[in-house]
Amino acid sequence: MSESDPAVDRFLEGSDAGLTHTAWKRALREDVLLGEACADCGHRSGAPRAACVRCGSRELEPIALPTSGEVITETTIAVPPEGFDGPHTVAIVELDAARIMAGVEESVDIGDSVELVGVLERDDEPGPLFG
Ligand SMILES: [Zn+2]
Repeated sequence: MSESDPAVDRFLEGSDAGLTHTAWKRALREDVLLGEACADCGHRSGAPRAACVRCGSRELEPIALPTSGEVITETTIAVPPEGFDGPHTVAIVELDAARIMAGVEESVDIGDSVELVGVLERDDEPGPLFG
């Protein structure tokens, strides 16, 4: 394991717990995006995972992700899920090689630079909002 990052550690449950969904949510509510980096292949994810999606390793290290990145793909959902008003747009945003699903504030195009502008709360589940 490499040196721990105090900016990340303050959200974690304990030194051995890794990144939990609870820690991820707590960080997001303070405008900090946490992800994981695979110690074996280097793959980065933007959400807690039990194992690396690329190589299956369980050696995942919690990392802080940048709060700005690039839109990889986006889609507008015309019929919103319960709790949302009207059509809304979601996007896959790439943050320093980690890709996350996020809400976006207004119409964005593939390749646009976006940054974290807030948090969408629904049923006690925060989601990042970019714009
Ligand atoms: Zn891996």
